[in-house]
Amino acid sequence: MRVLVLGAGLIGLSVADELLRRGHRVTVVDPAPGQGTSYAAAGMLSPGSEVWHGEAEILRLGLRSLALWPSYAERLGVSLHCTGTLLVGQDRGDLQQVERQAELLAGLGDRPRMLTGPQARAAEPTLGPRVVGGALLPEDHSVDPREVLAALLDRVGRPAKWLSGRPERRTSRRTSCDVAAAATGTQDVSKVGKYDATVVATGATLPEPWRHLVRGVRGEILRGHTDDPPKRTVRAWVHGQPVYVVPRPGGDLVIGATNEEHDVPPEVTFGGVFTLVEAARALLPGLDRATFTEALARDRPATSDNLPLLGPAPDRDDVVLAAGFFRHGVLLAPLAARLVADHLESGSVEPLLDPGRFTRSTTEGARC
Ligand SMILES: Cc1cc2nc3c(=O)[nH]c(=O)nc-3n(C[C@H](O)[C@H](O)[C@H](O)COP(=O)(O)OP(=O)(O)OC[C@H]3O[C@@H](n4cnc5c(N)ncnc54)[C@H](O)[C@@H]3O)c2cc1C
Repeated sequence: MRVLVLGAGLIGLSVADELLRRGHRVTVVDPAPGQGTSYAAAGMLSPGSEVWHGEAEILRLGLRSLALWPSYAERLGVSLHCTGTLLVGQDRGDLQQVERQAELLAGLGDRPRMLTGPQARAAEPTLGPRVVGGALLPEDHSVDPREVLAALLDRVGRPAKWLSGRPERRTSRRTSCDVAAAATGTQDVSKVGKYDATVVATGATLPEPWRHLVRGVRGEILRGHTDDPPKRTVRAWVHGQPVYVVPRPGGDLVIGATNEEHDVPPEVTFGGVFTLVEAARALLPGLDRATFTEALARDRPATSDNLPLLGPAPDRDDVVLAAGFFRHGVLLAPLAARLVADHLESGSVEPLLDPGRFTRSTTEGARC
């Protein structure tokens, strides 16, 4: 097949790579390849610490994709950090959050090992003295999403900026125009028409008429360097404030992340930086000696049921949506690539991820 992929984030690039592997011809288009939400991501591959009540399906998807990561990382030649995640609480109330997370996971068949405060500090000596307890998720991994983006861009090739013509203004709504022409700013639909299918992997901004299916949820995140990093990802509640610290090999680390519904461009705020720094240094006091390198904000692409959109676009069988990965896009990238390629080859769609699920329920409701 000849496939056009719109969007060179982790999702679009992993889909393009999988299609190339299967012998298809692929063109990737993106005005700013690898600079979207994937560029900001922490890279935690931690289905258990991300799941919340009512999200059992996300846990299942995450576990399926986590199982693919070791061979995926090896194929891309990127390093996988396999030391697990430590969940900790800074006071009794915070520990209750850890216990609730552990109970939730136990209910879903995956009970983590609980740790007292001293046990948590023995497992992670960089933790401060006030940590009262925690839980260990030993099967979790992490990756550096920028390393993954670079590896995928190497394999897929530099994406084209636009097919031709000028970029469309983001505010315009031209539902009658071909999606690829509209999204890439060309009026020459015949150029677009040489593809058998278009995969829309444009992150938090879907082209019309699907824009309403995904909204942006702002996340601010910090990067730094220390000579004394934690050995593994530490996720914590610090007096009610969630925070995580993800170490990279070599002493770089990531501190994240704020979580904010908004409808303004994603920008770093002092409030976000203060919140993250305050929580992280209470958790890991040695961070006072770390050097600061970067603060960044991007939109997580969220859907109204927190599950991604993976399958045929409503009313357009030649367009496949691969979007709405919210907090899980790094984790789910290898699985998403397979599911999109399977769909293009055989028509298979996982009903829970079918982008038509929202329109279907509206129509059914109206019929009642
Ligand atoms: C602070 C933060 C931390 C995170 N941490 C994690 C984590 O630890 N683990 C995890 O699994 N997930 C994490 N996530 C979520 C993850 O980053 C996203 O789910 C994932 O990056 C989404 O990838 P994407 O390819 O869909 O979007 P993007 O990376 O945004 O890529 C979309 C691309 O589409 C392009 N584009 C837009 N419009 C068009 C158009 N019209 N035509 C062509 N191209 C277009 C953009 O330029 C962009 O390059 C985090 C997110 C944030 C914000």
